[in-house]
Amino acid sequence: MIGCAPPPPQPITLPNAVASKDSVIVEPVVPQEIISVISDTVEIMNFDKDTLTIGEAVKSVIIETVAPVAKEIIEPTIVIKIIPQLNTSNDGSQITFILPAEISAEHLQFIDESLNDISEKAIQHILNDSIQDDSLSHLINHIIVKDYESNIPSYEFVSADISGDSLIIQYELNKPFIHQIIKPYLDAYGYPEQKSIVPLFTKDHQPPTFETVADLSLILPCEGISVPTQALLLPNAPRSYRHGIHRGIDFYVNWGSPVRAAAGGTVVRADHHYKELPAEFRKKLLAEAKRLGHTPSDVFEHALVGQAIYIDHGFDLVPGYRAYSIYAHLSHINPEIMPGTVVNAGDLIGLSGNSGTEPSTLGTRKGAHLHWELILQDAGGEYYLGQGFNSKDLYSQLLKIFSE
Ligand SMILES: [Zn+2]
Repeated sequence: MIGCAPPPPQPITLPNAVASKDSVIVEPVVPQEIISVISDTVEIMNFDKDTLTIGEAVKSVIIETVAPVAKEIIEPTIVIKIIPQLNTSNDGSQITFILPAEISAEHLQFIDESLNDISEKAIQHILNDSIQDDSLSHLINHIIVKDYESNIPSYEFVSADISGDSLIIQYELNKPFIHQIIKPYLDAYGYPEQKSIVPLFTKDHQPPTFETVADLSLILPCEGISVPTQALLLPNAPRSYRHGIHRGIDFYVNWGSPVRAAAGGTVVRADHHYKELPAEFRKKLLAEAKRLGHTPSDVFEHALVGQAIYIDHGFDLVPGYRAYSIYAHLSHINPEIMPGTVVNAGDLIGLSGNSGTEPSTLGTRKGAHLHWELILQDAGGEYYLGQGFNSKDLYSQLLKIFSE
C-alpha cells in the first residue's frame, strides 16, 4: 500500500443483507470479490457515514462466517518489515547497519558478509591513495585479500542503538590496523620507482589502452597452451625477486618445447652462444636491483631473460607504435634465426627452457617456461602489452588478442 493512493471508496451492494442492532441476516457465504472490496474499504475507513455502517455490519458477518481467512484480510495486523540495510561513508571508514530490533542469525551473517566485502574496498581505497598505477593497486589488493582469505578484521564495533523498530549498529574502519597489513605489500611491490624496468620513459607517458590494440591479432608462441589464467603469470604482476613488475606472459611448457614467432617481423637478437650466469653473480645483480628498488634495464636485458630472441615488428602490428617481441629463457635457437632474418607469424624459432633463472644457474631444468612479451614504443616512451589494461579484463583481453 505504501506509495499508492488509496482507491476511491466503492459502493457496496450486499445480496439480502439487512443490518439491525440486534441481528444480521445474510447469505451464509459472501463472495470473495466482495470480501476483498470490503477489506480494502473498511481498512481505509474513508466512507461517508451510511456506507460505513453497512461496511461495519458486513465486517461483523464476515468475521463470523468466513473467519479466519477473511479476518486476516479485514483486520490486518500492521507489521513494519525492516529490511536490513547498510550505509557506508564515502571513504569507507564508517559503516551503519539498520536492522530489525529483533535481530536474527541471518542478520548477523549479513553483518559479517558485508564487513568482509567492504574490507576489500577499504584496502583498495588506501592502496589507491598510495599507488598511482591502477592495475598495480588492484593486483596488490588481490594478493592481500588472497593471503588473508577475505577475512581481515578491519572494522571495529562502535555502537548499537534501538530507534523505534530498528536496531542501528555502527562500525568504524581500523585504519592503523589496515595500514599495518598493507605496508609490507607496499614495501615489496608498491614503490613507484619499482614500476618501470627500462628507464627510458618520459614522465607523462600513457600506455596504449586495450582499445588501441583491439585489432591486434597474435599467434600463441607455444603450441597447445593458451594464455594462462593466473594473474601472477600475466603482465603487471609483481616480481619481488628482482623488485620489478612482470611485463610479459609466462607460458609454462616443458623444457625443450617448440617456440614460434607470435607475429611476422625481423630478428634483432638471437643469443646463439648463450652461457648461463654463475649463480653467485646472478644473486649479486639481484641484490643491486634490490638496492635500486627496481630492475635496471641492463640486468633485465643481459641477465634475466637468459637465452633470448627479439623480433622487430616495425610499425605494422599496432598503428602508431613500433613493436618488438621477446622470447626469453630459451634452451635452443634454430640456426637460421639470426639478426636480420625475416620470420613469418608461426615460424618455429627455438625451444623453451629455463636459462636466466635461478634453477638454470644451479644446473637444473626446473621452472622451464617461455617468458614472452611485446614492447610498444611511441614518441612518449615505451610500454608493454597489457600495461594500463583494466586488471579485471586483462585475461580476457589478452585471450582476444591471441584468438587465432
Ligand atoms: Zn615471465
